[in-house]
Amino acid sequence: MSNTGNGWVVIAGLGPGSDALVTQEVRDVIDEATDIVGYIPYVKRIAPREGLTLHASDNRVEVDRATHALEMAAEGKRVVVVSSGDPGVFAMASAVFEALEDGAEANPGWLDLEIRVLPGITAMLAAAAAIGAPLGHDFAAINLSDNLKPWSLIEKRLQLVGEAGLAMAFYNPRSKSRPHQFARALEILREACGADTLITFARDVTKPGQELLTVPLRDALPEMADMRTLVIVGNRDTRRIGNYVYTPRYARDEA
Ligand code: SAH
Repeated sequence: MSNTGNGWVVIAGLGPGSDALVTQEVRDVIDEATDIVGYIPYVKRIAPREGLTLHASDNRVEVDRATHALEMAAEGKRVVVVSSGDPGVFAMASAVFEALEDGAEANPGWLDLEIRVLPGITAMLAAAAAIGAPLGHDFAAINLSDNLKPWSLIEKRLQLVGEAGLAMAFYNPRSKSRPHQFARALEILREACGADTLITFARDVTKPGQELLTVPLRDALPEMADMRTLVIVGNRDTRRIGNYVYTPRYARDEA
């Protein structure tokens, strides 16, 4: 299909929940859009208006959704693909580039489309800020869902990252379809990081009903996390001061 010009795709992050955390450039681009594409709860956050078509789809159809966005842009539409948090963190930006790569041969015009990624505040940063500064030193961000990678690889990464002494932020920690894996993750972490290491469960961050809970790994229970929770495991220097949890900027020499 050739490109009829003027269409574009913007992949935009809506932040963790609070409207105050949507950036001005994301608001502006939504005002210019003809079409919004995304997972149902994120599309619900967009105010309907004349001239704007909302295309809400179910979870797990990311590449179909991305392909649809590229097709509409090639027809001249101004398409905003919405993600929660940041669109580049376990979200739609990569899905759009996967769809572009898959479809570029059949649709060479797609390569000339204007595609832009607008960042948003990712859940990990909002959660860290809510509790203090647990990510103040080196850290790794890990998606605990095994939809797109084998669970064995997740276990290996938890082990190695824990041994390396990095703090960790976990997305998609525990779902109903895989209730036992998070318990296993906690076991690996207790072993690799030490049972005194602090773990924070941050649920519905920046939304009404936000909950924050910090315990040592030895007291962590799988039920403390669900899919609305962002989990942060500190490093061995992560500590409490007053009501806050923070990680100092320095690290001790291991020797
Ligand atoms: N692109 C998103 C992440 C999508 S993965 C971002 O950058 O934030 C979805 C996971 O993000 C959820 O399972 C949860 O672990 C986390 N998450 C998203 N919003 C959250 C919020 N407001 N509070 C706590 N965790 C959240």
